[in-house]
This record gives sequence, C-alpha cells and structure tokens, in this order.
Amino acid sequence: MPEGPSDHCAAMRRRDGWLRLLPVVLAILLSFLLPGPVHASDLILRLAPDRVKQGGVSSLSIEWRASVRTLRVWVGGREIGVPSWGDRSRVVLLVGVDLEQTPGPVEVRAEATDAQGRSRRQRRALRVLDARYPVQRLSVPRPFVELDAATLERVNREKAALDRLWEAARPERLWNGSFRVPLDDAGPGSGFGVRRIINGEPRSPHTGTDFTASPGTPVLAANAGIVSLVGDHFFAGTSVVVDHGLGLYTMYFHLQESLVREGQRVDRGEAIARVGSSGRATGPHLHWGARLHGARIDPQDLLRISSLD
Ligand SMILES: [Zn+2]
Repeated sequence: MPEGPSDHCAAMRRRDGWLRLLPVVLAILLSFLLPGPVHASDLILRLAPDRVKQGGVSSLSIEWRASVRTLRVWVGGREIGVPSWGDRSRVVLLVGVDLEQTPGPVEVRAEATDAQGRSRRQRRALRVLDARYPVQRLSVPRPFVELDAATLERVNREKAALDRLWEAARPERLWNGSFRVPLDDAGPGSGFGVRRIINGEPRSPHTGTDFTASPGTPVLAANAGIVSLVGDHFFAGTSVVVDHGLGLYTMYFHLQESLVREGQRVDRGEAIARVGSSGRATGPHLHWGARLHGARIDPQDLLRISSLD
C-alpha cells in the first residue's frame, strides 16, 4: 500500500525527534573526547613527608587529570605562590613549618578551576611534630641585651626589610638538583631552634645553623638563585640573602665581607662572601639560615630535598 500523507507526516515527526536529540548525543560523545571539568578526584595532592618536625620541610606535589586554568594553594590559611606549569599536569612546591609552629595538623589546601570556571578543591593535613629543641639559659650583662631607642628602631627597620623579601617571593624555581652546605670542609653545624632564655626572659629562638670557620673562609651559595639582599644589620652584621624562588631563601650572617651585589645571579657553590664575626657574634662563624614562605626552617633540612623534577 502506498504511503499516505498521514504516514509520511508520522515519519517526519520521528525524524524530527532524532534531530532534536542530536545535540545531546553529540555532547555526550564530545565529553569523552575533550578534557572534561575538574572533579575532586582529578586533583591529587601528595605531601612527602606528611609529618615534619617544627622547622621542617615537606614537598607538595599537585597533579591533575583534566585541564586546569588556575591553581591556588594555601598552607595553614596563608596563600603561597604556584609556579607556572605550561603544558605539564603537575607542579611541585615546598612547604615549610615555622620552628615555633604549634604541634598538630596544618591544613594544606588547593583549588583548581577549569576553562569553564568550575572549581574543585582538595585538602591534606601536614602533621607537625614537636622538635623538642633544647633550651639555653644565659646570663648576659644588661647593656648587651637592653637596646636603646635608636638601636631598637634600627633592629625593627632591618626586620621589616627582611619581611618584605618574603612577601615578594617569586614563585618560579631558580635551582635544580640538591642543596649543599655553604662551606667546604664544614664541620657539623649546630644550634638550630635553640630556645634562649636570657637573664630569665624568653628571647627569640636561634633561627639558623652555626658553623665554626676561620675568618676569610669562602662562603658558598647553597644553590642557584638571585641575591636579594646585601646588608649590614645590627644583630646579623654583614649579611647576604639569596632568593632561590618557590618562596625559599637562604641567609648568610656575621660575614667579613660580601662578594656579591643585590640582583646578581649566583650558581650553586659560588663564593658569595667571606666568614667573619660582624654584628652580634661571639667569634668568627657562619650563621646559615633559611626561610620558606616566611617560615623559619632548618637549613640542614634543605640538604635532604631530592630533585623536584
Ligand atoms: Zn647563629
């Protein structure tokens, strides 16, 4: 029987129905072919180690399986810079725990958005362990510990200058490979984290590792970076600070002289200064300190960081 007009219309309607479904079918097919939205499970955070002592360092790897347009990271509520990732799907950051951080968990949080502005969050806990740093009680003649108004103002100004450096941290990593001790033939360093009580009053803890060395001994950059400060400070004496990027700085205090200028690029192991006893030093030694996103960390922990590549 020939197809009647009504049957023809019914066939058209069936075809129209399929045409209306076509965009949905295409969207489902495309979702398998194109990078999809970032799901929480697509954002992977790994802390190695996930337990560190006060003053310790951990590396944070962030990996994603979908396209990521923006990525933000907070450690204990403080946002830290993230290096550019180009077409890679992973970044590695360093996370530092201040030597006076209260033991317990610190939240590490990441938030990624995809090209459509959809965001996904992921969090991990970094467990901070009590380092039980030794306590040192000292009796010092009062004029040595009581600062006059002008000196106190100078000390505060110098502290503010350093704090500005940590705020201006560049997120890109300027080094490769491992860190090294800043002296050739260095003995074991000592004194990091020692809590000092002077004339019965608690003072700021010792924020670096001290190495005894003869005056004039070359001080070597612990790794590649850019000299971000050369100064003459009341407590630290002649000082050099090297910015390694990724929020990490190493500091070299009580120097006889600096061999570098601010803004200069230095290589790992390059002589940047000479050992001295400038500032408030009891004798010739190198005070080696480190900051990571402002946290006062044990510089010797940097020696244990393996390649971040
Ligand atoms: Zn020291």
